[in-house]
Parts: sequence; structure tokens; C-alpha cells
Amino acid sequence: MPANAAELVQRCRNAYESGKTKSISFREKQLKQLLKMYQENESDFIASLASDLRKSKNEAYLSEFNIVTADVINTLHYLKEWTSPEKVQKGLANILDDVLLYKDPYGVVLVIGAWNYPIQLCLLPVTGAIAAGNCVIIKPSEVSTATSNLIAELIPKYLDQDCYPVYTGGVEETTELLKHRFDYIFYTGSTAVGKLVRAAANEYLTPVTLELGGKSPVFIDGTANIDITVKRVLWGKFINAGQTCIAPDYVLCSKQVQDLFVEKAKHVLREWYGDDPKNSPDFCRIISDKHFQRLKTLLKSGTLAIGGDDDPSERYLSPTILINVSQDDPIMKEEIFGPILPVVTVESAYEAIGFINSRPKPLSLYLFSSDKKVRELFLTQTHSGSVCVNDTLMQYVVDSLPFGGVGMSGMGSYHGKYTFDTFSFKKSVLVKNFNPLGESLGSARYPPLTDKKMAA
Ligand code: NAD
Repeated sequence: MPANAAELVQRCRNAYESGKTKSISFREKQLKQLLKMYQENESDFIASLASDLRKSKNEAYLSEFNIVTADVINTLHYLKEWTSPEKVQKGLANILDDVLLYKDPYGVVLVIGAWNYPIQLCLLPVTGAIAAGNCVIIKPSEVSTATSNLIAELIPKYLDQDCYPVYTGGVEETTELLKHRFDYIFYTGSTAVGKLVRAAANEYLTPVTLELGGKSPVFIDGTANIDITVKRVLWGKFINAGQTCIAPDYVLCSKQVQDLFVEKAKHVLREWYGDDPKNSPDFCRIISDKHFQRLKTLLKSGTLAIGGDDDPSERYLSPTILINVSQDDPIMKEEIFGPILPVVTVESAYEAIGFINSRPKPLSLYLFSSDKKVRELFLTQTHSGSVCVNDTLMQYVVDSLPFGGVGMSGMGSYHGKYTFDTFSFKKSVLVKNFNPLGESLGSARYPPLTDKKMAA
């Protein structure tokens, strides 16, 4: 049973108002505890991912565990620097003054995580929110049951229970929680629910970050190194069985490139997953029966070129490529979020750009080309949360790049210092002194506002 939402929010608010999260040493201690939690329970985290997604140990380290632990270490390293007031540029008029930005915590923030990378999508934002001095109500996704339960069990053992409570539950409980006032809401999940979260936040004019989804396109032209391209596209698509928010959703290319792509993909998939990917330890399962059934209906689009096998008892769907897909097929109408890659043929880069621009702005866009003009064309003529040229997903792990969407794929961003910035209100501060020189320089503003004073 989740805790009573009203009581939980009030407890968290009282804890915030006690002022303890203002202390940098308190934040540092909590972050060290978070790191300790990961280190002391490493095998349980890996096991929870195996239980939820049948994720292999090595993929769990690569795509989840190493990312969250590195993030806490990085945050601890820069904590003092990030939390210090920042001196900003000043003009001649303020030459004697201090012009500063103070990083205020927002207060009580709510972090709602999604199930597909259930550790990092829940706990990366929490790390930044703690560093910025907030109290955080942590709401993991109920869909990834094992990881959600583990987070709910461990967080209270390591972190301050009043400042960082975990709230579990599904739609009903989250709807109840969202009736309360928060000072910031950070949501990861679908665009449809993102709209509900924003509507709830509007009640109190609460600022939000919405990390949403959408269809991230890939364009491949004839100048791309096709051997490398095939590997990088398939890796980005089939890791986590396609349940990645920035997975390549569909491929746009010429008929010639499509034929080559499919031919090479057959070899690569056999090399990676063997003759039957179902037996490969490196291929995940679909998170729930609901998503499995949804994906099965999407298989009816286009012509099957590779895969299409399934086993409902394991929620297994093999790596699948569909060709001759038209833009009106059902698979082109919603985010796929599974191991199915449709290919839509286009005649040129211009046609691909037109196709992409006629749809909602994607979370990520992938371009494979050696032609600098084509690259410039895509970078300047399309809009998306991020672009990765000649690879997939790798932009996500560059901490100096903010990660987030635009339009229907989201608002706001995070990662590295950007997470700290997201959870900090930048308070503008001007500090003047009583220096007589400063007073005389500024005295023209006092009445009477004579022409002589104005001309000076
Ligand atoms: P989900 O079902 O885990 O839902 C996400 C969270 O929203 C959960 O905590 C859930 O409890 C809560 N929720 C669900 N319905 C709700 C409701 N009606 N009211 C309030 N809260 C509700 O995950 P999902 O929505 O299936 O996630 C998949 C989507 O998330 C995809 O579109 C994917 O692209 C997107 N996503 C985006 C990112 C990103 O970083 N931009 C990352 C992962 C997933």
C-alpha cells in the first residue's frame, strides 16, 4: 500500500521547511549514501532488471548501473562548484557592484519515473534534485515491478526518510499524488500522460520538465558506410528490445539502400544473436502483455523482411525489419517502442526532411551520411531534441549535452550539470554598497529629473 499522499507531501514539506537540505554537507552526505546504496546492492539491482526486462548482467551495467553510479560520483565531485553563487557579466553601470546568480532549491519536488530504464529514469533526476537542495518524492514506475519494489525498499534504508520518501502505485495513486502542490515536477513517460501531468501542475503554476517520447527517424543516404551504419542502427534499435525512448523508430532511405541494409542486417543479427535470438542472453523481453499485444498488431504493416517470430509466454518478439512500409500504415502512426524497424523509401534527402517536418518534432534524429552538405541540411532544416550523425543513442551519454525533447517530445532537459540546473532556481542578485563614488554615479535617477541630469 502506498503511503497516504497528503501526509507524505506534508511530511516532505515540513522537512524542507526545517532547512536541513539547505546545508551542502547534508546534501553531500545524502549523495554519498545514494552511492553506497548502489554499491552495497549492486547484484540486487542487476537481478531486478533481469526480472523486469530479462536484461543481461553486462547490458544492465552498460545501460543502467554504470550510468547512475558515474552520475553520483560526478555530482559529488562538482557539488561545491555548482552550488556556489555564480558571478555573471556586468556592465559599466555596475562596475562597483556584485552581480550574482544564487542557486535556490525549488522546495518539494516530484520525480515520476518510467519503466524502460527503471533505475536511471527514476534516480538520475533524483541525484540532481538532492544536489540542488530539494526534498524529493520519488515515484518509480509500477510497470517495472521488481525495480520499483527494490527502490522502495532501499531508498529509506540509505536516505533521509522525511526528505526523500518513495511513493509507489499506479495510475490511481499517481493521479491522487498530482492533486497536491509541488514546487517542481519532473516526469518521464508518454506524451499522453505528460499532458495530464502538465495540466495538474498548472493548478499551482508548478514548473515541469517533461521527458516524453515519439518517433525518432533515421535517414541513410548512399554515401554512408553501410556496414557500420547497419550495426549502429540495429544496436540502437534492438538494445532493450527496442524499448528505448530515443531508439531509431523508423528508417528513411532509397530503395537501393533499403535492399543493402536488409541484406547486411541479416548477417549482423545472426552474428549478434545466433540463429534463434530467443536463446540469446543479450536480447530482452517486452515489459508487459499489454505492450506485447500492441506490438503484435503493428506487425501487420508492410512486408516482413526479417524476424516476426514471437512467444507470448515469454513476451518475446524477435528482432524484426519491415519493408515497403507506407506512411499511412499503423506502425507509422505511433511510437513503436519495441523490436520492430520499419523502412520507408524516399527519393532524396529533401523528401526525407519534408517527411520528418510534416510530423511532430522527434526526441532524436539520426542521420547517416558522409556528405557535409546533407549533414548541414539536416542540422539546419529539421527540429528535434537531439541529433546524432552517423551513430545512434550515443548523444545520450555525453554529459556536456543536455538531454530532452522539443514540442510533443517534451520540454526541459537534464544530464550532468543540466540536472542540477533543472532543479535549481537561478535567483538574480545585485549587491550594492554605500561607496560615495557609486552613490554619485547613480544619483541622476533621483528627482528632479532635469534635462541637464539626463544629458550627463
Ligand atoms: P509508464 O507506464 O512507466 O509511465 C510513466 C510514469 O507515469 C509511471 O510512473 C506511471 O505510474 C505514471 N503514469 C502512468 N499513467 C498515468 C496517469 N494517467 N496519470 C499519472 N501518472 C501516470 O511508462 P510509459 O508512459 O509507458 O513510458 C513509455 C513512454 O515514455 C514512451 O513514449 C517513451 O518514449 C517515453 N520515455 C521517454 C524518455 C525520455 O527520457 N524522454 C525516457 C523513457 C521513456
